[in-house]
Amino acid sequence: MRRRTFLQHAAAAAALPLVPGAAGAAAGAAAGAAVDAGVRGTSGSPGRAPLRVNAERLNGWLARFDSIGRTSGGINRVAYSEADLAGRAFTLDLFRQAGLTPRIDAAGNIFGRVAGTDPARKPILIGSHVDSVTDGGNYDGPVGSFAAIEVARSLQEQGVRLRHPVDVVVWQNEEGGTVGSMLAVGALKDGDLDRVARSGKTLREGIALCGGDVTRLSEAVLQRGDLACYMELHIEQGGLLERAGLQIGVVQGIVGIRWFEVTIDGFANHAGATPMDQRQDAMLAAAKYTVAVNDAIRGEPGRQVGTVGRLVATPNTTNVIPQRVVLTIDLRDLEQAKIDRFTATFERLGREIGAATDTRFAFRQTSNNAPAIADARVQGWIDASAAALGLTRQRMPSGAGHDAQEIAHVAPMGMIFVPSVGGISHSPREFTKPEDVAHGANVLLNAVIAADA
Ligand SMILES: [Zn+2]
Repeated sequence: MRRRTFLQHAAAAAALPLVPGAAGAAAGAAAGAAVDAGVRGTSGSPGRAPLRVNAERLNGWLARFDSIGRTSGGINRVAYSEADLAGRAFTLDLFRQAGLTPRIDAAGNIFGRVAGTDPARKPILIGSHVDSVTDGGNYDGPVGSFAAIEVARSLQEQGVRLRHPVDVVVWQNEEGGTVGSMLAVGALKDGDLDRVARSGKTLREGIALCGGDVTRLSEAVLQRGDLACYMELHIEQGGLLERAGLQIGVVQGIVGIRWFEVTIDGFANHAGATPMDQRQDAMLAAAKYTVAVNDAIRGEPGRQVGTVGRLVATPNTTNVIPQRVVLTIDLRDLEQAKIDRFTATFERLGREIGAATDTRFAFRQTSNNAPAIADARVQGWIDASAAALGLTRQRMPSGAGHDAQEIAHVAPMGMIFVPSVGGISHSPREFTKPEDVAHGANVLLNAVIAADA
């Protein structure tokens, strides 16, 4: 560990509260045997130990939640469906049991608060979502939502009084395009509310079903400065942590996504009568281009990903040289500059391959979402908390979208990842081990405490 890193860790560990009896210290020391790539968990100075949530209770909630919306195809709690509303009712009960008097904002998001001791402090916001995709699993969303409720309950039960209020949020309709969190940052227009969600309900109808009020949406909008920070625990949904044998991902940000449609024009001609050296074969150009895109992405270090995912040939017939191919590229990275650089590379490769194959390439950018970078201090609190708990970890980007990317527009944001078994998500086989759920919730708890310092 470099000295500067150590000092950051030490400072954050020192921010953890004194725990009478330090019952957690022994557990922390035992777990401290876990070591990751050169970063050993600092367990803080004597007498200071990380707190722990009631993991059994948290995993019990998840187990009970599994029966809501469970069908033969998997979990079906698509936003605004009967099952989603039943899931929200279950969640509201958990808020009440935790002493969090739930409030539903005009956008249909659920909020509950643990009061702080300093009325001048802005809330630390933690949470996730409880809706699912079609035929999904029980962990994407509920892990972070229920862990946030459990953190709030643990703080109260363990008598930890923080200066900041701690707000727990459950965003509505994450899987339909981060609807609740977009509404919370004022990113949806009135016309967007007529969009039809997977349940068949419009967003407008859905907001009403969730207990919101479309005529008062502006009241649900958070402004920059309204929050101290936002932290979200989530399953990784990929297999990087599992493959590396690590327990916690400290998310550096949510990748930016840029989509292109590339149209390659050649010339349709007879597949038997046209000599091989006299062709303008759009399919051949597309094949070379697909390989070139892959080579470019893999040709430099980093976590960037690029995918040619769709290829439509015309006339798409056995005995005709393809006249036209329309293909798509999906490009993702945490760094905007790198996304811009690869965009230029893809265009250059098109010109080169077009010249070599006597075809013409035309580019159209069809979608562009900027990266959402996790706040450096929030990452530090998460990392230091994992260290204090003796958990192995790594910094990593999120390749999937989350509510956190929206809230990053108005507040310092951070995310905690826990491993997905087999890297599987959005599937009935989605699973995160109870001990990993516990680790994630413990990190969230201590990160909240660190954020209060
Ligand atoms: Zn999710």
